[in-house]
Amino acid sequence: MNKTKQKIIVILGSTATGKSDISIQLATKFNGEIINSDSMQIYKDVDIVSNKHPMEERNGIPHHLMDFLPLTESYNLKLFEKQCNEKINEIHSRSKLPIVVGGTHYYLQALFNKCINETISKENWTSEQKLFIKENEFNPSKLYEELNKIDPLMANKWHPNDNKRVLRMIEIYYSTGNKPSDIYLSQDLSLRYDTLFFWVYSDAEILNQRLDSRVDKMFDNGATEEVQFLYKKFKEYKIDEDLEENMKSGIWQVIGFREFLPWLESGCTDKKLFEEGKTIMKTKTRQYAKKQIKWIKNTLIPDIKGENMFILDASDLKEWSDNVEDRAACIAKNFLEGNDITKFNKSPERLSNLLDFSALKNLENVSNPIELKLNQDKFVCENCKDKNGKNLIIVGEDTYKLHLSGRKHKQGLHYMTKRMKFENWKKEQENKTKKEWIEKETLNDL
Ligand SMILES: [Zn+2]
Repeated sequence: MNKTKQKIIVILGSTATGKSDISIQLATKFNGEIINSDSMQIYKDVDIVSNKHPMEERNGIPHHLMDFLPLTESYNLKLFEKQCNEKINEIHSRSKLPIVVGGTHYYLQALFNKCINETISKENWTSEQKLFIKENEFNPSKLYEELNKIDPLMANKWHPNDNKRVLRMIEIYYSTGNKPSDIYLSQDLSLRYDTLFFWVYSDAEILNQRLDSRVDKMFDNGATEEVQFLYKKFKEYKIDEDLEENMKSGIWQVIGFREFLPWLESGCTDKKLFEEGKTIMKTKTRQYAKKQIKWIKNTLIPDIKGENMFILDASDLKEWSDNVEDRAACIAKNFLEGNDITKFNKSPERLSNLLDFSALKNLENVSNPIELKLNQDKFVCENCKDKNGKNLIIVGEDTYKLHLSGRKHKQGLHYMTKRMKFENWKKEQENKTKKEWIEKETLNDL
């Protein structure tokens, strides 16, 4: 605990867990103001598709970095870092409590002292380097070989087929002349503020139902018109002229637009195309929620060594006031008064598996959590194949253990046993026929 640092509260968790509700409840109790950290809600308009909390449910609490960016503009972590920290200081200067809320978890890097540099400058590359990338951009094994030469420690962290990341690491080296692992290890992972984290969590089955019904509700509330409005802008700004590139940035990435392009392109009359869009949107929303949780577990928690992070169980909405509101308020009150909050359980008993306490224990002994991430071992699964037909390689012991107990591996095992049985049966059949044939031949010889 650092008494000289200013205090902030961060609320994270996947979509549809009730982050906005608890943030407004806490802001109301503790004289807070909300800073949005959702990369889609920063945009003007498209309130429904981007899931902005309705004005009438905000209880008069100011929401910053929300609903301000024109649809033509793109936004990034670097900009968020600047604007979010400006807002935090401004809110503190008015003696109020900043509460950062949102689902774009990687934006939370803005709260660390580490330097965020998104730019890769190809001007520094030698002609050999330029040529190498040009020739091997889509050749995973060549790229991996190169990274292994440049920075074996970093190469060890990535899967050989993770082309995008491996390429990125090489580009960092070419641009800066520094090994990516050195850059990462020199990052300052201390937090700028005395920060209290609340992770609002809901069980997957319940969450998936909520996500589905949230999508349905969006369309009851006018999402169809919003999608059509976005399409009008999409045409106006000629986004389709470089579709693949343009869809990677800005509002166009929002879940609930691209999925409807076939319906929009065909004149908005084909009911079947519309329903298909909705189905894909639901699937993508679920996938996104999964990714959000993965980021909390694999990136944020190790980076903060699990400190000042508390899980709020929002699975049963009937228990909201006990499990979420009162628990959060009690911890927040003690945090703000400067009391020891380590006495509170980090998670309810039922969800203790979400925090890997043995991994957190390991983290206590390293000065920089990145060290542990870089020293992960690789495991080869003898049963599973990757998409190139090679044995599956898995990075990190925990991920490997998870894989062994997972569906994909078990299905793979099932398939392998079935196949082995079949192979044995085939051999048996062959032997049998051979035997019969030999017997027959022998008979003939007689
Ligand atoms: Zn496997």
